[in-house]
Amino acid sequence: MSLTTTLHTPSTGKYEQPTGLFINNEWVKGVDGKTFETINPATEEVICAVHEATEKDVDIAVAAARKAFEGSWRKETPENRGKLLVNLANLIEKNADLLAAVESLDNGKAIGMAKVDVSMVAGCLRYYGGWADKIEGKVIDTNSDTFAYTRQEPIGVCGQIIPWNFPLLMWAWKIGPAVATGNTVVLKTAEQTPLSALVAANLVKEAGFPPGVINIISGFGKIAGAAISSHMDVDKVAFTGSTVVGRQIMKAAAGSNLKKVTLELGGKSPNIIFNDADIENAISWVNFGIFFNHGQCCCAGSRVYVQSGIYDKFVQRFKERATANKVGDPFAADTFQGPQVSQLQYDRIMGYIQEGKKAGATVVTGGERHGDKGYFIQPTIFSNVTEDMKIMQEEIFGPVCSIAKFETEEEIIQKGNNTIYGLAAAVHTQNLNTAIRVSNQLRAGTVWVNQYNMLHHQIPFGGYKESGIGRELGEAALANYTQTKSVSIRLGDALF
Ligand code: ADP
Repeated sequence: MSLTTTLHTPSTGKYEQPTGLFINNEWVKGVDGKTFETINPATEEVICAVHEATEKDVDIAVAAARKAFEGSWRKETPENRGKLLVNLANLIEKNADLLAAVESLDNGKAIGMAKVDVSMVAGCLRYYGGWADKIEGKVIDTNSDTFAYTRQEPIGVCGQIIPWNFPLLMWAWKIGPAVATGNTVVLKTAEQTPLSALVAANLVKEAGFPPGVINIISGFGKIAGAAISSHMDVDKVAFTGSTVVGRQIMKAAAGSNLKKVTLELGGKSPNIIFNDADIENAISWVNFGIFFNHGQCCCAGSRVYVQSGIYDKFVQRFKERATANKVGDPFAADTFQGPQVSQLQYDRIMGYIQEGKKAGATVVTGGERHGDKGYFIQPTIFSNVTEDMKIMQEEIFGPVCSIAKFETEEEIIQKGNNTIYGLAAAVHTQNLNTAIRVSNQLRAGTVWVNQYNMLHHQIPFGGYKESGIGRELGEAALANYTQTKSVSIRLGDALF
């Protein structure tokens, strides 16, 4: 199989899709000559095949990243590292229409939302480009015989394993801070959505990054992903995905070379609406909180708790709102919800919907497949959901919302925290005191007030409890990719 294939997107027409492994700024085939197919989730048809990385290819990519790290990249000025990231951000913007179209084709996300993703990709890369020459150590005054200072040094070769729900955005969240701080990377995309990162890889070269700094491979989790997380020459692994796989990655890191680990994992985030909320606004945010990206967000507001005074009205109005969400062709301009990413995800979500029905929750709307082709699921709302039900406790990762009633602030803090996860939460109220009091007591890495799912590259994001380790975005992410070296210099005579 060749290293490119001609594809077509409904919004941008014909283009050349790279299909190889991007190692050392070159396109190569996998050593074992394996390939795998990626499916269009809206049609269930094969889009194309891409080359698959196995353990041997991971070794080659890691060696390339190591050589770059030990070589010229180590001597590159911070200012130039920043410039390269800004170049890349500019090229992403220049190619935004194509990148968004490829994302919609491969992932199924609505084209309007894919365009937002791409603009956030550029924003994130440019932001970290700005950080590159602002990473500073400290001088520490201990006594007059010592001059001590710290340096924030890169960790080295970073393995990065990303999921399929925001293929290009996760690519940027990972690459931006790693490269800004002087690391090199081997990034593995998710097997369901390899295409957009490969298109963006061409831009990495065009932006001027030296060979080996950013390597991008397609492959399966159990093969290429496992090879990265257990590799003896990878200094750090950063992962976004399910909590189950996060645990495996941590074990692999512990069982190999104790590489540093950062994890951004699952969630079951509470979205809390008090009696005094602006109800129409709250409904818009609850709708966006759960149905945005077809529910395939780790921070999705999947547990909706409504105070008793407005519960009935809320459920009725939310139903009207959710049934108005346009589900269908990701390339139609007015589509809000496209298909789920794969047959496997579709089956998992339908399984949870059956569980909810069996457990006795009320189906307010949805609960079935949408159409007869593609992995589409109707926006689904369950009411009267109790704390013990699976649909209230487990991450569904689909367009399925569980609603329950609450009476008091004390009760909702307890229920809001009644989860193994702690990624996000939201509070809707017009009372500032309530908003701050409740936010302070929710055990989650992000709390939104009177909004939902509003991520920004300047604001740290990550999980409490089983939702992860470390923070992405903002200044906080720099800590994931640097280590502190203390240098202590004796100024006076020998002490002993
Ligand atoms: P999902 O279940 O939603 O597909 P995963 O957590 O399985 O999410 O996948 C997220 C990423 O982790 C993907 O790139 C996938 O290939 C990778 N992955 C899956 N299993 C492993 C594993 N055992 N080791 C390393 N990476 C893995």
